[in-house]
Amino acid sequence: CGVFGIYSNSMENISRMIYFGLITLQHRGQESAGIALYNDNKIHYYKEMGLVREVFNDTILSRLKGNIGIGHVRYSTSGESYVTNAQPLVVKYKGGSIALAHNGNLVNANEIRDELEDGGSIFQTSIDSEVIANLIAKNYNLGFKEAIATAVKRIKGAFALSIICEGKLIGVRDPHGLRPLCIGKLDDGYVLSSESCGLGVVGAEIIRDVKPGEIVIIDDNGIESIMYDEDKPKALCSFEFVYFARPDSVIDEQSIYQSRIEAGKILARENPVDADIVMAVPDSGTVAAIGYAEESGIPYRQGLLKNKYLGRSFIQPDQKMRELMVKLKLSVLKENVEGKRLILIDDSIVRGTTSRRIVDMLKMAGAKEVHIRVSSPPVKHSCYFGIDTPTRKQLIGATNSVEEIREAIGADSLAYLSIPGLVKSINMKDENLCTACFSGNYPMEVPNGNSKFRYG
Ligand code: 5GP
Ligand code: SF4
Ligand code: MG
Repeated sequence: CGVFGIYSNSMENISRMIYFGLITLQHRGQESAGIALYNDNKIHYYKEMGLVREVFNDTILSRLKGNIGIGHVRYSTSGESYVTNAQPLVVKYKGGSIALAHNGNLVNANEIRDELEDGGSIFQTSIDSEVIANLIAKNYNLGFKEAIATAVKRIKGAFALSIICEGKLIGVRDPHGLRPLCIGKLDDGYVLSSESCGLGVVGAEIIRDVKPGEIVIIDDNGIESIMYDEDKPKALCSFEFVYFARPDSVIDEQSIYQSRIEAGKILARENPVDADIVMAVPDSGTVAAIGYAEESGIPYRQGLLKNKYLGRSFIQPDQKMRELMVKLKLSVLKENVEGKRLILIDDSIVRGTTSRRIVDMLKMAGAKEVHIRVSSPPVKHSCYFGIDTPTRKQLIGATNSVEEIREAIGADSLAYLSIPGLVKSINMKDENLCTACFSGNYPMEVPNGNSKFRYG
């Protein structure tokens, strides 16, 4: 998911600025979108299934007035989804209303929800984020700062939050810093954004990242910082660098673009192969492919073109249509493929279905050899922290050797970036990153699979 927030001293165009921010964060979630605005001690909101540009129009944005606002784009998980599960969540409590937008997943939401339900709380959604709103409301008599601190000390897992409460804009990052969240400065206010790419589009400049274990409270007086947990080891999600974040973002002072170039270069050193052309699976493999080409001295060319105008909401009625859809989505540039030995770079192999289809397409177009190089290590373990990796059974890397995967996808050779190579590309210390989906080394205890909540 992606979260966004604005605190402004003027009321002008706030909902439109949030709308712009959410469009910029659209890659972080395409399932639903929502905006909540605070005005005169009330919170007005609108949320719906679909892309930001499908959900909002001028009329809706004009109705949302206020000088404090948050927004959310929800990540598309497999299976059904409902608008009641869209965010921001808005709940009423004795002191007024709270709006909350959450990126990440909690690992102890079931346990807390059971406890709250036993105490008489009623839940409206099936998302883990609702326990956070409930915990804040339940502790309101402590004052909102203490209520938020008490709530976020209780929850475990990954959370980057953007909250409106008592006329303040509040940002929170989990103690491991699993999910990113940064702060920007406007002429007349502040911005919170999952990624720094969301700042420039509203005319803000980055000040800093919210720190792991920090609550920031933004109002007319500026930014107040409360460190609520400084004891946990940092564990920023390495998959943000591999796939999730936009290349023009900077997370915890590391450039996503630069890390992908480096990953491509290291991949070329770790796994060289003689070939004519380096190409990418667009768009997620493109930056690493540029790095691979530079390091290997083999020219980079486009071999696959992606149709930019296909929304996610496109209907896929049957198998035949689904197969045609693949051709609609990706086309082969034959002149760069026919008779050539290709190095095909993708950022990750999850189920293996994408790679299998693409190898097929390239061979059909006359490729002589297809050597797949992946700019991340094999995905072998599920994520419990908000990236929608499937169950272990569906992860091709969990149950198959590299040679078996190569065979299954029909490539002439296959090799992955090593875990140390990935860590080096991000330019952070191993102990400050989460690499659990590759290494199985989780930064905290994870659930055993009987969760009520869907992850994503
Ligand atoms: P697969 O191996 O499952 O067919 O797909 C791998 C491709 O999906 C890669 O090209 C990668 O860019 C993309 N991918 C990796 N992780 C995710 C994810 O969490 N969500 C989505 N929608 N795509 C992903
Ligand atoms: Fe990121 Fe993987 Fe850790 Fe999930 S398990 S937070 S995807 S590094
Ligand atoms: Mg991809």
